[in-house]
Amino acid sequence: MAAYTPMIQQYLAVKAQVPDAFLFFRLGDFYEMFFEDAINASRELEITLTGREGGVDEKIPMCGVPHHSAETYMARLVEKGYKVAICEQTEDPAQAKGVVKREIVRIVTPGTVMDSKLLGEASNNYIVSLAGDVQGYAFTACDISTGELYATQLQGSWELVLDEMNVYNPSEIVTDSGLIAKIRDSGAAWGRNLVLTEWTRADEGLLEEHFAEDSARQELTPLSRHGVALLLAYLKETQKRALTHVKHIRIYEPAQYMTMDPFTRRNLELVETVRERAKKGSLLWLLDKTVTAMGARMLRRWIEKPLMSVARIEERLEAVNLLYNQLIVREDVKSALKEVYDLERLVARISYGNANARDMVALKHSLMQVPTLQQVCAASGSETLRKLVADMDDCADVMAWIASAIVDEPPVSIRDGGMIREGYQPYLDQLREASTNGKQWIAELERKEREATGIKSLKIGYNKVFGYFIEVTKANMSALQEDRYERKQTLANAERYVTPELKEKESLILEAQDKMVDLEYELFTELRDRISQHISRLQKLAEVIATADVYQSLAAVSAAQHFKRPEIGEGFDLEIKEGRHPVVEAVIQDGSFIANDTSLVQEEGRILLITGPNMAGKSTYMRQVAVICLMAQIGCFVPAASARIPVTDRIFTRIGAADDLIGGQSTFMVEMMDIQVMTEKATRQSLVIIDELGRGTSTGEGMAIAQAVIEFLHDRIGCKTLVSTHFHELAHLEESLANLRNHCMAVKESGRQVTFLRKLIPGAASTSYGIYCAEIAGLPQDIIQRSYVLLQGFEERAAAAAQSAAGVEPGAAHSAGAVKERPSAAYDAGFAAGLAAASSAGLAAEPVTAA
Ligand code: ADP
Repeated sequence: MAAYTPMIQQYLAVKAQVPDAFLFFRLGDFYEMFFEDAINASRELEITLTGREGGVDEKIPMCGVPHHSAETYMARLVEKGYKVAICEQTEDPAQAKGVVKREIVRIVTPGTVMDSKLLGEASNNYIVSLAGDVQGYAFTACDISTGELYATQLQGSWELVLDEMNVYNPSEIVTDSGLIAKIRDSGAAWGRNLVLTEWTRADEGLLEEHFAEDSARQELTPLSRHGVALLLAYLKETQKRALTHVKHIRIYEPAQYMTMDPFTRRNLELVETVRERAKKGSLLWLLDKTVTAMGARMLRRWIEKPLMSVARIEERLEAVNLLYNQLIVREDVKSALKEVYDLERLVARISYGNANARDMVALKHSLMQVPTLQQVCAASGSETLRKLVADMDDCADVMAWIASAIVDEPPVSIRDGGMIREGYQPYLDQLREASTNGKQWIAELERKEREATGIKSLKIGYNKVFGYFIEVTKANMSALQEDRYERKQTLANAERYVTPELKEKESLILEAQDKMVDLEYELFTELRDRISQHISRLQKLAEVIATADVYQSLAAVSAAQHFKRPEIGEGFDLEIKEGRHPVVEAVIQDGSFIANDTSLVQEEGRILLITGPNMAGKSTYMRQVAVICLMAQIGCFVPAASARIPVTDRIFTRIGAADDLIGGQSTFMVEMMDIQVMTEKATRQSLVIIDELGRGTSTGEGMAIAQAVIEFLHDRIGCKTLVSTHFHELAHLEESLANLRNHCMAVKESGRQVTFLRKLIPGAASTSYGIYCAEIAGLPQDIIQRSYVLLQGFEERAAAAAQSAAGVEPGAAHSAGAVKERPSAAYDAGFAAGLAAASSAGLAAEPVTAA
């Protein structure tokens, strides 16, 4: 160590504070990296690796980026999941004795990004802290780019943590090593850009101090308190600033919202599609007609968290209803919102000290829209909208401050002046005048010098190195006789001079300019600091604006897609007339989507067993029921002629798609584990949807498990259930289970030509048309023909077996509603093994063995 130069020693001391981050070490106009950091950064950023003498024999590996373009490089590293510590010179090099002092001023991590280039406009960027004890887990999520902070305590099970993680989709989690391992083991980090940071220091004193004005801090459970304190300590440590925009802890109970497990969220394609993981094609994509970034983020949060309270849902529906019916009001709201910038992030930048004068103008411009929005909402006739703006603080004072201080089109930089309006501050005006007068004086001098010397081409110019000068071409040099002309610079065909008079004025002008720039900067930061005292007012306003935006978006989509207001209640019965899947309908566009009714009612049948061939529309239908329930609970109109929707506490879906391959588990095992969670968690108020129940194992076993699961749901849970299966044999359950009804997707057959009618009708399907599907898919005719021959053989043998076992007429086994008792043991090699898998997935022993 001692052999290194003092600067490298300083570097090493700073680097020791941040072993897990790239250290951007400021040296003059560059950020340099050394040693391992340099080697890794040169690879990740594709920049040249060089070396530097550092007092030892070998050169120290080094690479660097210019400070003015450093943000882009930092962004690239953070995007790749790295952390970047920024180390600045904290004293003036001119004043320094020895090595200039340097300190880390901020650590940028994926969860603490402020740079707008890195932040998706329409989604939050959350950092989450997780703490656990015997009672459960404290889950705290913060978006420092907007200042939102949410805290909850999850009782008991780890699944709840995974559910919440899926709601917030954090880019970073800070927690202890044990929970990091648990997150990894449960595959929760799989397929996402998630950084897990080990961090255990919680500072409750800091929490008390930081949230001194927020009474919510007193309502935190001890565990939640710990969780918030943990996150706050990490944020302070990395951000090294006051974080004044993180003002309020929003405590919530998971039970306030509908629960959905990660698979259900994905299967229903709420915010992204299963296959492309893209927004396009998701429910969010369809519903998002928001015009502000804040509104877009809020809509996403609403979709992720459907409400449980009928009163709150009705309140939303009331606003949507009005905006649905009153096109003019909707358009007025929308056009006011169009002019509003991302207030939440503007405000965060103000608090961070990152906001420039253009941000101020954007803030002013946004605030100018508020009175119109307020008037329109107040006069709209909607109680919800009226209440929303009733005691809205329009922050007119803040707007006036900015309007009086900042010019309409300020420059990007806050260090070069040109931001502050004339008349804002007398001294600044004086300096400006001095500088303007000075410039006039120079123009006058040029005229006088021309006259005195008789040189018409004489001119006075300015450059940064030499200041003001008198320039004369070589040909005219001889005309300058007097010795007051002091030669300054020689060009190819001109000479530049100064005079004592010019020098004196120059220093006055430059001094005035320097002072002006400094004063402007000072006035600007003073304004910024003043506004940052009013952050919570601005944040409240931002929330109101975002809410209005979401209402107009839901109303606009509901009107355009001919959705209808749902009737929502606490009861049990679910009835949908002419329901449609909103996204599938929108995607096929040609209006050919076939609507279907749904009736899941207490007395007549709360379980629908849907049979029908592949491609008939079963899974679309089942998903549509779930999506309609969910849309109603976020306060949106629904794609149906009418709908009576009970509040659902949990939607559980088991829909096979491309997402089964997580963590290397078999499809069947994943299905069984999902079903296990369902048997444990589903209540009477839940909606359960299972597509192709029992696939992935042998026919006999699959059917056995399917029947047992259906019986369990029917007898024990009593929830509304939609099950599709290709085991037509299960249709006989309608006879033994009072609340189960058979339905199937109608198909028109003419010869071997099959048409899917996509209409749900009572009764069971008689065949799967699997071979027909294979034919449409283009399999060679040889295979198709051979399949028909084989099928016939199988069916004849199965019928004969059934006949000898139970005396049933041959051929009856495949007709609608056919009863088929226990599957024959013949095709059931490995039967016991499959049931064992079901049982090791944690399924209750009784229903499994009952099969
Ligand atoms: P299944 O689950 O029975 O195999 P899907 O629900 O996947 O069938 O539907 C297959 C295709 O049929 C879907 O991609 C969709 O485009 C179309 N489809 C489904 N339901 C309808 C409907 N009600 N109206 C029009 N097209 C539909």
